[in-house]
Amino acid sequence: MKIFCIGRNYIDHAKELNNPVPKKPLVFMKPPTAILKDPNVFYTPDFSEDVHYEIEVVLKMAKNGKSIQKAFALDYIEAITVGIDFTARDVQSQLKSKGHPWEIAKGFDGSALVGSWQDYEREADIDFLLEKNGEIVQKGNTSNLIFNFAHLICYVSKFFTIQKGDLIFTGTPAGVGPVSQGDDLKGYISETQLFNCHIK
Ligand code: ZN
Repeated sequence: MKIFCIGRNYIDHAKELNNPVPKKPLVFMKPPTAILKDPNVFYTPDFSEDVHYEIEVVLKMAKNGKSIQKAFALDYIEAITVGIDFTARDVQSQLKSKGHPWEIAKGFDGSALVGSWQDYEREADIDFLLEKNGEIVQKGNTSNLIFNFAHLICYVSKFFTIQKGDLIFTGTPAGVGPVSQGDDLKGYISETQLFNCHIK
């Protein structure tokens, strides 16, 4: 199982981190061991002083495919949820400044929280949000994606064979910020709560 992640896929988030808006999807990966085994508890790692939450819509792939055409791309989505791309922002900033790969800041154990799966209705724009300690800190709608789901599946599958069960984290909207021990993170699509994670 592979975990694809897309960076800077909402204009408002690219701007808040002073990053240029990309002309092509910015793709990186997390290893399968990044999946947070118990999505109810995240232990802050000892190698970072500044772990950030990034809520993202996550897609689960239904079948294998290579060089998938856009017209058929949505047939490859089996289910949808929201998750968190936990990011050691201090570590990532150091690596970025040197032009180094950022895997250790993004792909560490437990860095991929995945919520409960929902059926995918392809016509609908998806409203999603993250609450931290009962307050809304991030809010997004997939109509604001720079590269939509079909575009992402088409693009990623040019380089990597997509396999059944692979995940795509489709990017975060504005509002990313730090987590501290004792925080509670709740993720929603529309009114439906799909995860509730306690930070330890
Ligand atoms: Zn992200």
